[in-house]
Amino acid sequence: MNSTEHVVPFHKADVGEEEAQAIAEVIKSGWLTMGPKTFQFEEEFASYIGARHAIAVSSCTAGLHLALDAIGLQPGDEVILPTNTFTATAEVVTYFGARPVLADIEQTTLNLDPEDIEQRINSRTRAIIPVHFGGQPCMLDRIHDIAHRYNLRVIEDAAHSLPATYRRKSIGTLSELTVFSFYATKTLTTGEGGMVTTSDDELAARIRLMRLHGIGRDAWKRYASNGSWFYEVLNAGFKYNMTDIQAAMGIVQLRKVDQMADARRSIAQRYDDAFEKIEQLEIPTVNHDCQSAWHLYPLRIRTELISLRRDLLIDSLKKQGVGTSVHFIPLHLHPYYQQTFSYKMGDFPIAEAEYKRYLSLPIHSKMDERDVRYVIDMVSEAIHSSSRSSVGSTVG
Ligand SMILES: *Cc1c(COP(=O)(O)O)cnc(C)c1O
Repeated sequence: MNSTEHVVPFHKADVGEEEAQAIAEVIKSGWLTMGPKTFQFEEEFASYIGARHAIAVSSCTAGLHLALDAIGLQPGDEVILPTNTFTATAEVVTYFGARPVLADIEQTTLNLDPEDIEQRINSRTRAIIPVHFGGQPCMLDRIHDIAHRYNLRVIEDAAHSLPATYRRKSIGTLSELTVFSFYATKTLTTGEGGMVTTSDDELAARIRLMRLHGIGRDAWKRYASNGSWFYEVLNAGFKYNMTDIQAAMGIVQLRKVDQMADARRSIAQRYDDAFEKIEQLEIPTVNHDCQSAWHLYPLRIRTELISLRRDLLIDSLKKQGVGTSVHFIPLHLHPYYQQTFSYKMGDFPIAEAEYKRYLSLPIHSKMDERDVRYVIDMVSEAIHSSSRSSVGSTVG
């Protein structure tokens, strides 16, 4: 415990009585798995995003798997994605015996670098999975242009980007497939869960079929009083459906999604205002004409101006009760990707250089004004005390 006993956790889900009540109602209704609540959540989500179809699934990872299945990914195919992401983005590619091809990121936004995508395209490349890092939209026009020129599919990993806009259009309406996450730490949570959006009827039908064992349309209600015992298995599908318990929570969360986003946006603004005055720190870059969902607030240390290392700053904040994290350890530095795909240190210089100097600060709607002030004070104090103790020895 720190001296002030003020604790700001890295994340705290914004859930409470309303979610608990909605879940209790589902339990009392007797219908526990995918059913009316799931379809209501899908409809409300589709209308919130402005997407033609929204298909609820058990996780974003499941949704990405279903999306790659829907585009017909084959063994030996290649899919380009950023090295600075969570392993889920790449692991789903390996499910097909296909190869995740990592690409470097832009120094400014930490998003997949369109120029680096182009270097890595060959005759086996089938798709690109851009990740809107931290909630900040990728340069989708450039990515779509590349996809168009090389005949590639685009599946957005939007695990961080609900709600976000690119050129005033909602993320979830811009590529043929977009996948959101409702994991416990994400900007809308159902504990575990995810949603795929698309405007393509055929892709939607395939994903709906494959998320529930590849069995026909009304199979979910074969145990309901108005359902039939008869069903047909049309394919070898997956068990990736959402449950009504999760969906009930999602419906409540969706009603507060804008309010939660506003709260994060104002925290980001407070952090920006405070940290842009500290020359040893670098605040996040937001692209012109984009709205970030501010799932993360990645702060970077200008290591050329200060000897304080990222890991030490994390430790010092932890001692003061401030939780932080690091997003992400680039995939090519993990043993699995090195051993299986021969990646090695040095392959992605920008991702590596940035990885050494970023940390993610708490940014969630359960933080109050005192919490925000406290995080700002603790970061500022750590920077100033480190600068004082090393005056003259590291600057310049
Ligand atoms: C959280 C996350 C996922 C996986 O989401 P789940 O819902 O836990 O499967 C995928 N991609 C990124 C970038 C994430 O941060």
